[in-house]
Amino acid sequence: MATSDPAEFTARLALASADAAALGLDAVIVTPGTDMTYLCGYVALPLERLTALIISPGESPKMVVPLLEQPAAVAAGVEDLGIVVAAWEETEDPYGLVADLLPGARRIAVNDAMLARAAFGLRDAMPQVSFELAGPVIGELRMRKTAAEVAALQEAGAAIDWVHAQVADLLRPGVTEREVAARIADLILESGHATVDFVIVASGPNGASPHHEVSDRVLEVGDPVVVDIGGTMPSGYCSDSTRTYSLGEPPADFRQAFDVLVTAQAAAVAHVRPGVTCESVDAAARDVLSAAGLGDAFIHRTGHGIGLETHEEPYIVSGNVLALEPGFAFSVEPGFYLAGRFGARIEDIVVCDSEGVINCNNRPRELVVVDV
Ligand code: ZN
Ligand code: ZN
Ligand code: ZN
Repeated sequence: MATSDPAEFTARLALASADAAALGLDAVIVTPGTDMTYLCGYVALPLERLTALIISPGESPKMVVPLLEQPAAVAAGVEDLGIVVAAWEETEDPYGLVADLLPGARRIAVNDAMLARAAFGLRDAMPQVSFELAGPVIGELRMRKTAAEVAALQEAGAAIDWVHAQVADLLRPGVTEREVAARIADLILESGHATVDFVIVASGPNGASPHHEVSDRVLEVGDPVVVDIGGTMPSGYCSDSTRTYSLGEPPADFRQAFDVLVTAQAAAVAHVRPGVTCESVDAAARDVLSAAGLGDAFIHRTGHGIGLETHEEPYIVSGNVLALEPGFAFSVEPGFYLAGRFGARIEDIVVCDSEGVINCNNRPRELVVVDV
């Protein structure tokens, strides 16, 4: 975990409770997943047996756990956070136990990623309750990173930068995307990540598909190669960074477009500061590309929030008028995609800071031309 400081978790639990009260909720129920990890540090597997954190305004938080998972929950320190653990035995009905803990509840929010079997189990046990998603409560908290979380994202960024520093050496004519990706996956683990979350190696025309992963295409001289990679650190926090390479000189029109992309990405990063809207960060990149006739080739939003998950709030997209605040962490990743020809993307994770912006990725952003 990014923080072993119980004070950070008790503060999050208290904020969630206050937000739930402000919204008129009787409880927020959270099953295993990143929301639970965020609120109390407990990394529980989403098994078929119900584990559920229950936050009710004005009361101590509770956790319903299967008896056989109780030692794990206690070892994770949940009781040290003032969470009252209620274990259920193998033949008991855990949903009935949750209902017993929430007498008279009318409105309950559940974590967005709760499994349907748990959501339906709760609904059936509490037919009088109106259920809704807890995204607005928990998403708001997760969006505002603390100093410890920002440090964890910087550590993740440095680790993925270390991988990118070695990618040029892996690219040469005759190797396949899949071979390059396998080596990159090893490097992601060597860099200190606990897991490899994705490896995109998109060469030549494959670069025109933003979420192309890998194929058996053989790299050729003159290919631009988009490399978008990320993993999860032992802290739980994720990395995500894209650099674009080329095997020898790329086509002249690619080079021209790429120079515009460098300017667009830098303009969006430079625009980041408290008070500006998410959509204005998107526009800062898009306007540069549009002015150069590449607006139609930039076919996705400029970025996504990142933290315990690679994609979370806030989304840097037209229509999102949310104003940035210190602690918001997200990607800035404009690109251009020309079907049948090539594509390119430059992606950094940045954090809005009271002073402006912290960049978690610091590799050069210019096209990396590999000698062939
Ligand atoms: Zn993506
Ligand atoms: Zn990415
Ligand atoms: Zn991304």
